[in-house]
Amino acid sequence: MKISEATKAKSVDPASQEILQLAADQDIETVWNRLEKQQPQCGFGELGLCCRICMMGPCRIDPFGEGAQKGACGATADTIVARHLIRMIAGGAAAHSDHGRRPALLLKEIAEGHNQEYRITDPEKLKAIAARLGLSPEDCDIKELALAVADIALNDFGKQDEETLAFVKAYAPKKRLERWQKIADNLSSMSEKTIGILPRGIDREIVDIMHRTHFGVDHGPLSLIAQGVRAAIGDGWGGSLIATEIQDVIFGTPKIREANANLGVIDKEQVNIVIHGHEPVLSEKIVEIATSDKMAQLAQKQGAKGVNIVGMCCSGNEILMRHGVPIAGNELQQELAIITGAVELICVDVQCIFPALAELSQCFHTHFVATSDQAAFPGSTHIQFEENKANLCAEKIVTMAIENFSNRKPEKIYIPAVTNRALVGFSVEAILEALGGTPEPLLDAIKSGAIKGVVGIVGCNNPKV
Ligand code: SF4
Repeated sequence: MKISEATKAKSVDPASQEILQLAADQDIETVWNRLEKQQPQCGFGELGLCCRICMMGPCRIDPFGEGAQKGACGATADTIVARHLIRMIAGGAAAHSDHGRRPALLLKEIAEGHNQEYRITDPEKLKAIAARLGLSPEDCDIKELALAVADIALNDFGKQDEETLAFVKAYAPKKRLERWQKIADNLSSMSEKTIGILPRGIDREIVDIMHRTHFGVDHGPLSLIAQGVRAAIGDGWGGSLIATEIQDVIFGTPKIREANANLGVIDKEQVNIVIHGHEPVLSEKIVEIATSDKMAQLAQKQGAKGVNIVGMCCSGNEILMRHGVPIAGNELQQELAIITGAVELICVDVQCIFPALAELSQCFHTHFVATSDQAAFPGSTHIQFEENKANLCAEKIVTMAIENFSNRKPEKIYIPAVTNRALVGFSVEAILEALGGTPEPLLDAIKSGAIKGVVGIVGCNNPKV
């Protein structure tokens, strides 16, 4: 396939380039085209200088100093930018932390015997979490322990006192906690106003942002940004950490393994199901059901060799690191997977899902299936996921995909022959095990200068970058 320079400019990935070229040749719209049509994007919006917080707005601040320097209420550029930024933090923290609430609630249901569809897969991890939280794992049976851990986690979401979150106190290093407190003390004495950094309640810090950024409340850029930091810590060391820890308890702690990645993992001979979104609660079940003999036989009856589950984005990552399920791509490849013409069904839950998938999937035989009560996609098929009917729901989705295999249009199929090998499953436990049970070898290598440092890179890519 000849790839044009314009296509090459969109992505460095050879698999994406092939599908983007195919899309360009066939006039199929993708995120890159829609972004192009948005150009030039609003300069006030890009700088965060447009305020729509109250009905007197929208107000805009002239960045060149020639026009208005204050909103109608008198809010300055710094106030408007800070309010806008922390509302973005509130949105992100709400999404990630709400994700964490779900496994915490599920763990409680498992512990109380109200959910028979899931179980505790890693009791050792549960004991380790309990010990960190100051519980005595040896004194309780595993269900009592699960209930106690779930209650502490859920309390961190909704508690009303001024105490720092239990998970933050249990997991953040002592020095870090002291540093955060010192920063809060310094900010308070500088501003003569109480400023907190340590989070009191995961939900509360998000609500606090929505309150203080409402019309006529907090106008101090420093005070606003400090609250953004507080909500971010509540998410990173609270909600998101709870999600990781409890998911490991229910679904197993990832182990280091090799896996395949990129669009080439879509298999022409098999029924392909793309799992896209963020949460592992349904995707774990789909993997379990799709790999059953019953579904393999059903697929063979339809003329396929079997059922091929591939991941996309974070739901894909959850099943990649726990089961080595191949990952077809990141956020930017969700449309490209459908354009291969070989995807029978794309199943989504929440976050990072383009609404454009509905229209695109109608150009192919692909079923676009939404499953979350929090996320509707006009043009999709909605199969409501319920945790106490998880097996039933997963079976319905996998069957729907298999029955769609015969609707493929062979002339529309093009799968790039590009896969990459990846090493995945780097949970804290797996890293420590690889180091011989202690971080000392890594610390020694850093101290000696053999390793310059360690970075974590989080997040999908973006056609603007
Ligand atoms: S809060 Fe102030 S700056 Fe924002 S829209 Fe209202 S009047 Fe304009």
